[in-house]
Amino acid sequence: MLGKAISLIESNHPKDQELASQLVDNIIDKTGNSIRIGITGVPGVGKSTFIEAFGEYIIGQQKKVAVLTVDPSSQLTKGSILGDKTRMDDLSKNSNAFIRPTASGNTLGGVSNKTREAILLCEAAGYDVIIVETVGVGQSEVAVKSMVDFFLLLMLAGAGDELQGIKKGIMEMANAVVITKADGDNVKHAKEAQAEYQHALHLFPTSASGWSPTVLTSSSLTKKGIAETWEMITKYQDQTTKSGFFSDNRSNQNASWLQEYFQHLLIVDLHGFTDVQKEMIDLKKQIKDNTLSVHAAGKKLLSFYRNVLRKHP
Ligand code: GDP
Repeated sequence: MLGKAISLIESNHPKDQELASQLVDNIIDKTGNSIRIGITGVPGVGKSTFIEAFGEYIIGQQKKVAVLTVDPSSQLTKGSILGDKTRMDDLSKNSNAFIRPTASGNTLGGVSNKTREAILLCEAAGYDVIIVETVGVGQSEVAVKSMVDFFLLLMLAGAGDELQGIKKGIMEMANAVVITKADGDNVKHAKEAQAEYQHALHLFPTSASGWSPTVLTSSSLTKKGIAETWEMITKYQDQTTKSGFFSDNRSNQNASWLQEYFQHLLIVDLHGFTDVQKEMIDLKKQIKDNTLSVHAAGKKLLSFYRNVLRKHP
């Protein structure tokens, strides 16, 4: 049922969208009772192996876990960095886990809107921990940060930040860094990396949550660091619930969601006016011919759109 409900909200068919809106309206009072965790890191860092071990540990704490994976690659290449079916095989067979890739091939705004709704559906379906996984390479992390309570960055020891393609901005968003694959010969490197990152994170300004970002090491093979990661997140939840930040942050996230969603609605609305689309094609031609500046064309298009609206309110 949950899978079907998510497919419904992902559908772009107007009839489905109407039903999806009703569905989300009807479940809203059953949402919010979860901890929403964003997990990111470059391909190969060990995200799916970590989420599998982490998810199984959390289920061992009598909780239900939902994992939503956001894969921006499919928008650009129609390929998929995250989407292969063999990922998190064991976890996906667990009856207390739900794993689902979220909509791709859409605009980023559309994807994050649908991922937010998918989070709400998972909560209404009784999942206590919602993990949103992304590929740590850019813009989608900003979107995910805006929909989760805790943002976790997975890093490898021994590979420079440059090599890992992690931008400073992503480091700055992290509530915690976990150095993965801290097993065998790699334990020493992982410990060194832990100290290095802990130092680097101290240089960032203190965040509004009052929480100082923590760096841990973990191994999904030996399971070392998995329980500690969960304990750290519970500590964060306790601390920020007491300070009021936890609920303030969610309210602020909802307020920015409205803004983002309204912009999305405006764009969808705009696409519905064929006259405006025709005018756009004409203006683009003038821009290509260098007979009109982009700013002038933009303003012309806006007044054209407003005129159309006046005629068809
Ligand atoms: P993702 O692309 O970030 O999802 O990474 P994967 O979870 O698919 O892991 C990439 C590779 O690293 C796989 O070959 C895993 O077996 C390996 N790996 C993942 N976690 C660990 C770990 O804790 N220890 C070791 N030694 N290898 C790991």
